Amino acid sequence: METDPLGPAPDNHARKVDTLIVGGGQAGLATSYFLSRAGVGHYVLERRAALGGAWQDRWDAFVMNTPNFSLDLPGMPYAGAEPGAFMARDDVVDYFRDYAQRIEAPVRTDMDVTRISTSDGGFSVETSGGSWRARNVVLATGAYQEPKIPALAAGLPKSVLQLHTHDYRNPEQLPDGAVLIVGTGQSGGQIAEDLLAAGREVHLAVATCPEAPRRYRGHDIIYWILRAGIHGPEYGLNTLTVGQLPSPAARFACNPLLSGTDGGHTIHLRELGRQGIRLHGHLEAADDGELTFTDDLAERLAAVEAGFGQRMGRALDAYIAAAGIDAPEHQPAPADDWLPVSPPRVNLAAENITSVLWATGYKLDLSFVDIPVLDAWSYPRHVRGVTEQPGLYVVGLPWLTGHYSSILGGVGVDAEYVAGCVARCVAGR
Ligand SMILES: Cc1cc2nc3c(=O)[nH]c(=O)nc-3n(C[C@H](O)[C@H](O)[C@H](O)COP(=O)(O)OP(=O)(O)OC[C@H]3O[C@@H](n4cnc5c(N)ncnc54)[C@H](O)[C@@H]3O)c2cc1C
Repeated sequence: METDPLGPAPDNHARKVDTLIVGGGQAGLATSYFLSRAGVGHYVLERRAALGGAWQDRWDAFVMNTPNFSLDLPGMPYAGAEPGAFMARDDVVDYFRDYAQRIEAPVRTDMDVTRISTSDGGFSVETSGGSWRARNVVLATGAYQEPKIPALAAGLPKSVLQLHTHDYRNPEQLPDGAVLIVGTGQSGGQIAEDLLAAGREVHLAVATCPEAPRRYRGHDIIYWILRAGIHGPEYGLNTLTVGQLPSPAARFACNPLLSGTDGGHTIHLRELGRQGIRLHGHLEAADDGELTFTDDLAERLAAVEAGFGQRMGRALDAYIAAAGIDAPEHQPAPADDWLPVSPPRVNLAAENITSVLWATGYKLDLSFVDIPVLDAWSYPRHVRGVTEQPGLYVVGLPWLTGHYSSILGGVGVDAEYVAGCVARCVAGR
């Protein structure tokens, strides 16, 4: 029988441990790395049978949209030969499994945490594999658990196959005929390209996620986003930190339209239109086999194309100037005023649309946290990952502290801070 270094697991008794990390994705493993270094006894509880986090939910052709250099987890920076390339899904999953081994993370898989409540100055944690008692709990369950599908989906005929991008794997999964993709965040944009390349007829309902240049001022855009987000505050530049967001809802705003496929590129929606994808406005209704879209495609595309320069581009320029970095000026893409004809009403049968792919994002699901610390968005109320409930922490959520918090190259910053707080708490300081 396996010997448990942190105490026995007697039948009918809760295991006891200083700290439990819930979730074995990049946020949980990065936190584990720092807790181990601080000598804090802990376990990482992961509900899946194998490590690799949400990366395992991506489609077959998925490649990261952040370059390999962003695989910069604490204690194991990317050391491969292609820092500027974009790793494919299965290699990313392997990378995480390798990382967990390398840092000797005390992971328990197949442990679904079903309830966390306070008890005797600590926490009682119920899991599919028994009960635990912990002085501290770090929530690292990610933001990509519960696929969001709009209510109007109920108005589609039963003959139309509906899938969320969470469940999409490859074009063969979809019936013959045209497909409507709803949403143009990174998933919608990339899957539209995937389907177009497979020779499928694609309709695309355009959202407002901004297009961003893949290369900006001499580097991949992610290089600047990470640098400006993490180091901007050293120059008094906080634009990419959570305190500067216009509203709490902005924490869930979509990421720039970028892809890592074919060496990496910007997803330019008008170009997709020129290549044959049928662009539409926002999907407003689906009744009696008729789809209704907003009649504002021209304004939408203009907003998508202007969005980057209005906020992110300015923030990056300000950082480059403040840090005194000698970077070439950005050469914007030439203006593009191509506009397709886009009727606001589309008949599913007439267009032979046989499937709808919801690229409409995810909801947070922390329903297992039975402690009143969640706000109206189910996001824990916190300061730098330290929640209102003493001993309860959170890592890895979008905009936890900054734009970088939920992406690979940035999660370590928050994990180190939170692990430091846990260690001080365990040491009684
Ligand atoms: C389409 C798409 C593309 C993306 N591309 C990139 C990219 O190129 N680069 C990048 O940096 N980021 C990218 N991201 C964001 C990326 O998914 C995150 O960087 C990463 O997965 C977040 O890691 P995490 O550890 O916070 O969450 P996750 O990877 O979701 O890990 C959380 C873990 O917690 C487990 N868990 C959840 N609930 C429980 C529970 N109750 N009990 C036990 N375990 C639980 C889950 O099974 C999961 O393994 C992308 C996101 C999406 C949706």
